[in-house]
Amino acid sequence: MSLPNIKIIGTGGTIAGVADSQTQTVDYKSGQVTVLELLDVIPEVADIANITSEQFCQIGSEHMTEDIWLGLAKRINELLQSDETDGIVITHGTDTLEETAYFLNLTVKSSKPVVLVGAMRPATALSADGPLNLFDAVLVAGDKQSHGKGTLICFGNMIISAREGTKTSTYQTNTFQGRGFGCIGTIVAGAVRYNYETTKKHTLESVFSIEEVDKLPTVEIVYQYAGSKECMVKAAAELGVDAVVVAGFGGGNFNKNLSEYVKSIKNMPSKPVIVRSTRVASGAVVRNGHINDDEYGTIAGDDLSPQKARILVMLALLKTKNPNEIQEFFYEY
Ligand code: ASP
Repeated sequence: MSLPNIKIIGTGGTIAGVADSQTQTVDYKSGQVTVLELLDVIPEVADIANITSEQFCQIGSEHMTEDIWLGLAKRINELLQSDETDGIVITHGTDTLEETAYFLNLTVKSSKPVVLVGAMRPATALSADGPLNLFDAVLVAGDKQSHGKGTLICFGNMIISAREGTKTSTYQTNTFQGRGFGCIGTIVAGAVRYNYETTKKHTLESVFSIEEVDKLPTVEIVYQYAGSKECMVKAAAELGVDAVVVAGFGGGNFNKNLSEYVKSIKNMPSKPVIVRSTRVASGAVVRNGHINDDEYGTIAGDDLSPQKARILVMLALLKTKNPNEIQEFFYEY
């Protein structure tokens, strides 16, 4: 049987991190080891795929930018057009892995697998989790069942959809979870097993294209907390941002300070789009629930986390400024 051709793209992160001693799992430098060096410790990948690799960047993913996303999506679209590439694995820091995954989920134009992987312990640590995570990711990217499932996150023997996957723990190795939706598959005894798939649009069904885009709209996230003032949203609006995602209370609630301000700018022609998301770890923000979006001119962020709502609204704004159309995108993607 011929092996799948998998391209591994390195971007840095803890999976490529280095510390002075094996016991240092917190105090280390991320983005030091190249993809080729990572592969050196798992020669077994040669039994499951033909591997080629490239180093796209070498950063801690807290330094990820929209420009890198645009370049990465364009490069992946180029690679996946070729018959020489059957799937892609991206090694990535865990801090923004979920954001890159969701951005690619909406902008990659191929049904071939794109799998993001990282690690919680640096490459030099005792029981480093990177090597097995990377091996699993190659297995997933090379598996025919992974086609058409959107961008995937492979971590701790689980396969999680890009839309739902989120980092839940600062240092534990099972950090990636599915915001209450679980994982869509697992890797058990060297076999990929899928149980579910997302019903949301992605990749080939996505209307968002970044091929001609050099700059994404500016979208900021503002947190609500007991006693918070409207000043941060106001400052963002005065700076001319295109949209603000509010990580609201509970079901996307705003306090009096913010709701009065948002209502007051409703008819301002250049006001930013305001998306109601939630600081709660899972669950939906329902349109016209608690806050009347029709009256406030706001968008309900459905069950996307604030950081993913930000990505969707950035891409949505490339197509439309119509709030009803943006709201529809939140139901579809
Ligand atoms: N700061 C690191 C990063 O995101 C954390 C990690 O990879 O786990 O690059």
